[in-house]
Amino acid sequence: MIIIENAAVATVDAAGTEFPDGHVVVGDDGRIVAVGAGRADESHRGRRVDGTGCLITPGLVNTHHHLYQWATRGLALDETLFGWLTTLYPIWGRLDAGIVGAAAGAGLGWLALSGCTTSMDHHYVFPRDGGDVLAAEIEAARTIGLRFHPTRGSMDLSRKDGGLPPDHVVEDTDEALAATEAAIDRWHDPSPDAMLQIAVAPCSPFSVTTRLMEEAAVLARRRGVRLHTHLAETDDEEEFCLKQFGCTPVEYAERVGWLGDDVWLAHGVHLDDSAIAKLGATGTGVAHCPSSNARLGTGSARVRELLDNGVPVGLGVDGAASQEVSHLGAELRQALYTARQRQGPKSFGAREALRLGTIGGARCLGRQDDIGSLEPGKLADLVMWRLDGLGHEGIDDKVAALVFGPPARVELALVGGRPIVERGELVNADADTLTAEARRAHRRLMAAS
Ligand SMILES: [Zn+2]
Repeated sequence: MIIIENAAVATVDAAGTEFPDGHVVVGDDGRIVAVGAGRADESHRGRRVDGTGCLITPGLVNTHHHLYQWATRGLALDETLFGWLTTLYPIWGRLDAGIVGAAAGAGLGWLALSGCTTSMDHHYVFPRDGGDVLAAEIEAARTIGLRFHPTRGSMDLSRKDGGLPPDHVVEDTDEALAATEAAIDRWHDPSPDAMLQIAVAPCSPFSVTTRLMEEAAVLARRRGVRLHTHLAETDDEEEFCLKQFGCTPVEYAERVGWLGDDVWLAHGVHLDDSAIAKLGATGTGVAHCPSSNARLGTGSARVRELLDNGVPVGLGVDGAASQEVSHLGAELRQALYTARQRQGPKSFGAREALRLGTIGGARCLGRQDDIGSLEPGKLADLVMWRLDGLGHEGIDDKVAALVFGPPARVELALVGGRPIVERGELVNADADTLTAEARRAHRRLMAAS
């Protein structure tokens, strides 16, 4: 058991319950036993943690990422999405399992230090002689200790067929579908305590055939797993859809069976009112990636309208090559700033940002019954943020200190009750080793490119 006391607690439950001075008790089964005001019941026996000066929140949930991109940060710095992609595709075509494993270790280690306890990954580049890249990132997640939702991505529409990627980075449609089903067989754990779940994730309208989109949806529903793709990220994508399919990206998603409460879409920046209404009516989620959208200059998602229409919205850092910060804690503030730049300071608050980063993300991944809020019976995925140092002290509202203040140090992060970060350090890995491995991977990839 772990008993944390003397901390502020933001449960992010449906009522938004908070305790300025409270406790959280974690049971041996990795689930929360008690959350409340004041000290914990004295009958609890176990490790006692003093949370003085800290805020406990649910662990952050990252709903969009491409971990392999840690190996290609700092490139194509001033490009649009399409310019950035066409610069990087040839480099990504030389990825292998060693590079992906090292990049994933660095990316997941960094995410854990930024307050993330559950992350998805969208991996869609499978070079023919690159080895088992999905296994490599799953191994990295097991090492760091995060709860992991990797998706088996795919691309089968190359330049010769009217798509954006070069011919050598795409797969055959049937091979991609077979490999996706094999990943589900091998790794997907449907249990409520699952540390590993697979989703089906063809990459985007401009890199995937209509047949692959349609058959991926059928496959996911037959196997009871979720669906993820990029959608409505840029004006260029909208133009592509209008020209190729004669409809907008969301109309295309509807046509190929991709709206539903088992689907979450990355970005959703360029959405008109009818598109937002469709997402809300179908329960289709959106992974909001405000820093990546800003880095690529793609526009600002209409998060206020998405939420008002009942759309599940989570936060994503997106791949580290389109957002070199890749810090999920910092994304809370970026989401707030982005919303306020559009519609003013009353349009979006610190607690809404925290909701997006926690329960909103859990809804996108279909895990809202088990993670995303601090309630008895839920999995003990939580973060204790230190807020009494130079950067935060004096901001009495601790949730405001976390969201408006600089990125806070993670004093303790638990996944299913197991510590993955303590006193700002990874528990299960050494950050210097991860850095050295990522540096070697980057250099090897660039030397080959
Ligand atoms: Zn992405």
